[in-house]
Amino acid sequence: MSAALSIALAGNPNAGKTTLFNRLTGARQHVGNYPGVTVEKKEGFFTWKGHEIKVTDLPGTYSLSAYSVEELVARDFIVNERPDVVVDIVDASNLERNLYLSCQFLELGVPVVIALNMIDVARSRGIEIDADKLAELLGVPVVPIIARSGKGVDKLFDTILETAGTAKNIHPVMLRYGFDIDQALSEMLPLIEDNNLLTDQYPARWIALKFLEHDEQILEKARAANAGLTDRLLQICEKITNHLQQTMEVYPEAVIADHRYGYIKSVLHQGVIHEKFVGDRLYTSDKIDKIVTHRLLGPVIMAAVLYGLYTFTFNYSTSLVDLLATVFSTADTWVNAHLPDGPLKSMIISGVIDGMGGVLGFVPIIMFMFFGIAVLEDSGYLARVAFMMDRIFHFFGLHGSSVMPFIVSGGISGGCAVPGVMATRTLRSPKERMATLLTVPFMNCGAKLPVLTLLIGAFFSAHQARYMFLATMAAWLVALIAAKFLRMTVLRGESTPFVMELPPYRFPTLRGLVIHTWERTWQYIKKAGTVILGISIMLWAMMTYPGLPQDQVNTFARQRQIIEQKLQQLKTDATADDNIRPAGSNLMVELETLNSNEARARLRNSLAGRIGIALESVSRYAGFDWQTNIALVGGFAAKEVIISTLGTAYSLGDVSTENTTSLKERLAGDPHWNPVVALAVLAFIMFYAPCFVTIVCIAREAGSWKWAFFSMTFNTIFAFALAVCIYQTGLFLGLGG
Ligand code: GDP
Ligand code: MG
Repeated sequence: MSAALSIALAGNPNAGKTTLFNRLTGARQHVGNYPGVTVEKKEGFFTWKGHEIKVTDLPGTYSLSAYSVEELVARDFIVNERPDVVVDIVDASNLERNLYLSCQFLELGVPVVIALNMIDVARSRGIEIDADKLAELLGVPVVPIIARSGKGVDKLFDTILETAGTAKNIHPVMLRYGFDIDQALSEMLPLIEDNNLLTDQYPARWIALKFLEHDEQILEKARAANAGLTDRLLQICEKITNHLQQTMEVYPEAVIADHRYGYIKSVLHQGVIHEKFVGDRLYTSDKIDKIVTHRLLGPVIMAAVLYGLYTFTFNYSTSLVDLLATVFSTADTWVNAHLPDGPLKSMIISGVIDGMGGVLGFVPIIMFMFFGIAVLEDSGYLARVAFMMDRIFHFFGLHGSSVMPFIVSGGISGGCAVPGVMATRTLRSPKERMATLLTVPFMNCGAKLPVLTLLIGAFFSAHQARYMFLATMAAWLVALIAAKFLRMTVLRGESTPFVMELPPYRFPTLRGLVIHTWERTWQYIKKAGTVILGISIMLWAMMTYPGLPQDQVNTFARQRQIIEQKLQQLKTDATADDNIRPAGSNLMVELETLNSNEARARLRNSLAGRIGIALESVSRYAGFDWQTNIALVGGFAAKEVIISTLGTAYSLGDVSTENTTSLKERLAGDPHWNPVVALAVLAFIMFYAPCFVTIVCIAREAGSWKWAFFSMTFNTIFAFALAVCIYQTGLFLGLGG
C-alpha cells in the first residue's frame, strides 16, 4: 500500500525501541531481533487516526559511522528507504550520550522526531528535562514518553503526522568543527557540490565529514562514482590529518566527535536539564559496578557467571537433548521395522532422520544458550564482561565480546561451535566478528571430546587428565594465534575503539527474553534446516555408494546363508541341550565378523572410502592410514562419526560412542599406531575443518559461503601442517615406532 506512511525507530541500544515497536504492532513481527544486536530489520504495520503507518525497528547504534554492521544497516536504511519520519528514541536518563546519535541525524538532514523515553527512570534519578526547550534548541520536535507504559505515545504520533506533512523543507544542521576541520570542509564542499559527488543521496557537508572520518563505505561509493575526485578529496584529508597530528596529536575523527559532544553539552547547559541530586551521589548501577568490575573481584565474578552460563546451557539442556535423541532413535527403529531393506530405508535412516536429528539435536542447546545470553545482555552484565576482557582480546585482534563465543564453543571443556558461532552476534565490528567466527571452531567441542578421550586413553593413559588439560590450553592458544594471524592478513583493519559505554543494570523482562530466545532459535531451525538436510543426505550417499560389486555381495550372502543354516540346524537338533550353547555362540561371533567385514568392504569401496585411500599418498606424511582417513572424511559430517567410522574401518562391527574399549585396545595394539601417530591424529582432529552444521552456520552468519569454504580449507591445511610437523618430528627423534 503506497499510501502508507513509513517511519523508522532509531536510537541507542537499550533506549526502548523494541518496547515501543511491540506496543505499536502488538509484537507480531516478521523478522527476528537479536538481543543487543538487531542486524535484520523488523517491520510492522498499525493504524493511527485513519493513517496506515509502517514501522521499522532499526538496529541500536551509538553513532552513524561505519564501524559496525548495525551502524551501516541503520544509516543505509535511512538514506536508501527514505522513511517519512525517523523517530529517534532517546534515553532521557542518559541524555548526553544518546544525543550524540540525534546530532548525526540532524546533520544528515532527515526528518526527525525525538521521543524522549524513560522519563520515569530519569525522574527517579532526580533528572528533570525541559522537552520544549530541547526542541527549540535542536530545531526538531521532542515528545516525552514512557514506552513501557505507553504514556505520551499518542502525542508522539500526532507529532509524527505533523512532521511527515512538513518533511520536505528540512535543512541539515551545520555544526562547527574548529578552525582546521572547517577549513578543510570549505575546501572540499565546492568540489563535491560542483561534481555532484553522491549528492543525490547525502548532503555535501556530510559526505565531506565522512571523508574526514575515513568512512570506508562512503569512500568506496565515491571511488566508484569518481575516482579522480576522490583522490583529490583524500589529499585534502591527508593534509589536514597530518596537520592535526603534528599540532595536537589527534585524528580528525576525534576532533569531530569532540565537537559534536561539545554541541550537545552546550545545548544541555542552556537550562534543558535540572538535576536534583548532584555531586558525589552514585546511582545504583555505579554502586554495583564498583564491585562487579573491581580489579580483583571482577574477574572472579565473571568466571563464576560464565561458568554458570556454560553449565546452564549444557547441563540443563541435556534432558531435552536426550528426549530428542530418543525420539529420533525411535523413528529409526520404526523405519527399520516397517520399511523393506534397501537404499531407500538406508537413506531415510542415515540421511534424513539422522540428518534432522543433527539439526534439531542442537536446538535445546541453542535455546538455552540464547536464553542465558539474553539474560546477561538485557541485564547489562555482558557489557561488563566485554569491558573487562577487552584488553587481553584486543591484543589478539579480537574484542571483549569474543569471550562468550569461545566459551560456548568449548573453551572450558566440551561445548559446541554451532551456538558459539551464533553467539558472535554480540560483536559489533565485522572484522572482529569474522575473526571470532573463524576461530571458535578450534575449541574442543563436546563431539571431539570422546575422540580425544579415546586416543589419549589408548596411548597416554598414564597422564590422561594432564593431556586433556593440555588439549584445552592448546585449543585456546591456537585459536588466539590464528585470530591474530587472520587480523594481520585477510581481516586486517583497525580494532574498534571500545565505544560501548556501560549501560545501566536493568531487570530483564521474562516476556522479552522468551520472545528473543524463540525468534533466534526458530531462525536457526529455518535457516540451517534445509541446507543441513541436503548435505546430510549427500554424506550418507558418499559413505554408501557405489556399494559392493555384485559378486562380492553374493559371496557375503552365501557365507551368511551357510552360517544361518548351521544355526538353524543347531536349533532343530537340540531340544534343551546345554551342549550346543558354545557352538551356537561361536556361530554368532562368526556371523558378526562376517557382517562387520562386509560393512568394512562396503565402506572401503564407497566414495568416502576411495577418497580415504586416495588421500593416503598425502596423509602418510602425517602418519594417517586409509582407515583413519575415512574416519576423518566422515568426521566432517559430525565429529561423533569419527569413532564409529574408525570402528567400521578397523572392522569392529557396530561401535557406539559409549562402548569404545575394544576400539581403544585395537588401536593400541595395531602396528600402524603409536603415540606419535596418535598425537598427530589428535592435533588434526582438534583443528581441521569444522563439522558441516558449523560450516552452514558460519556461512549464514558471515553472509557468504566464501568464508565457510575459507574456514574449511584454512583449518584443514593448518591442521594437516601441524600433524605433519608432529609426526615428522616424532620420526626424527625416533619416538613411537
Ligand atoms: P532497544 O534495545 O532500544 O530495543 O530497547 P528495549 O525496547 O529492548 O528496552 C530496553 C529495556 O528498557 C527493556 O528492559 C525495557 O523494558 C526497558 N524500557 C523501555 N522503555 C522504558 C521506559 O519508558 N521506562 C522504563 N522504566 N523502562 C523502559
Ligand atoms: Mg531492540
